[in-house]
Amino acid sequence: MSDTLQQDFKIDTSLYKIREIRQLTESTFVVSLPRCRFNFRPGQHISVSIKGDYQSREYSIYSGSQEEALEILVKEVDGGYFTPKLKNLKPGDYLEIHGPFGKFGMDPKKKDSHRHVFIASGTGIAPFHSMVKSIPGLDYQLIHGVRYPSEAYESNHYEEGRYILCSTRNPKNNFHGRVTDYLKTREFEPNTVFYLCGNSDMIFDAMEILKQKGFEREDITVEVYF
Ligand SMILES: Cc1cc2nc3c(=O)[nH]c(=O)nc-3n(C[C@H](O)[C@H](O)[C@H](O)COP(=O)(O)OP(=O)(O)OC[C@H]3O[C@@H](n4cnc5c(N)ncnc54)[C@H](O)[C@@H]3O)c2cc1C
Repeated sequence: MSDTLQQDFKIDTSLYKIREIRQLTESTFVVSLPRCRFNFRPGQHISVSIKGDYQSREYSIYSGSQEEALEILVKEVDGGYFTPKLKNLKPGDYLEIHGPFGKFGMDPKKKDSHRHVFIASGTGIAPFHSMVKSIPGLDYQLIHGVRYPSEAYESNHYEEGRYILCSTRNPKNNFHGRVTDYLKTREFEPNTVFYLCGNSDMIFDAMEILKQKGFEREDITVEVYF
């Protein structure tokens, strides 16, 4: 079993020079930094601040644990304090990174014995991207809720048939509706474990649906963004 699923990791604080900002939509982008200087469990998050600014925000690690770059996936929030500033940064600017933090991620005991269903809204897909990139051979399905199909962030990074897009607007070749509408239509095998990440409304509604389908609280792991 991979060590990165089992260990607790030392917290590091250091400055990283931005290598690239990859714009995925008008408001969503990936900040790419040099290789991570700490070990982390896929699913964990970091605290990010802009050099010279006192505020920080939390971001799930988007990249895999062995990748050459440390990456985060960020959506600019209209009227937000941090994300408009982050969006305006350029390669060569510095970010202070503090982490890793959090317990969100895979239970190593269930890795091979269970099916894994990842349920995300918006940028809540980030920790699942890290898990998929870090854990080869994982049996998973990823259900992603967005408004527009253009928000299917880097969906080509997932194996064919494992990524399910639910969009509420302009659906083409994908499920038309919310993630929670999709969940109601689905049957899941009894040995399935669920991981939910994103906004609290989606998470609470999804938990209720899964409970009605007979799953226990211990089968469900959550990470609430806002
Ligand atoms: C553990 C954890 C991991 C997170 N990981 C990510 C991540 O990977 N990517 C990411 O984009 N964000 C992530 N967030 C949210 C992030 O920390 C910030 O809250 C977000 O970027 C907004 O910051 P801001 O300063 O621009 O807005 P603020 O000035 O702090 O807040 C403005 C308002 O926007 C709301 N808000 C926060 N996020 C969103 C959103 N995505 N859409 C709509 N409204 C929002 C807040 O609740 C608040 O009411 C995570 C949060 C937590 C707790």
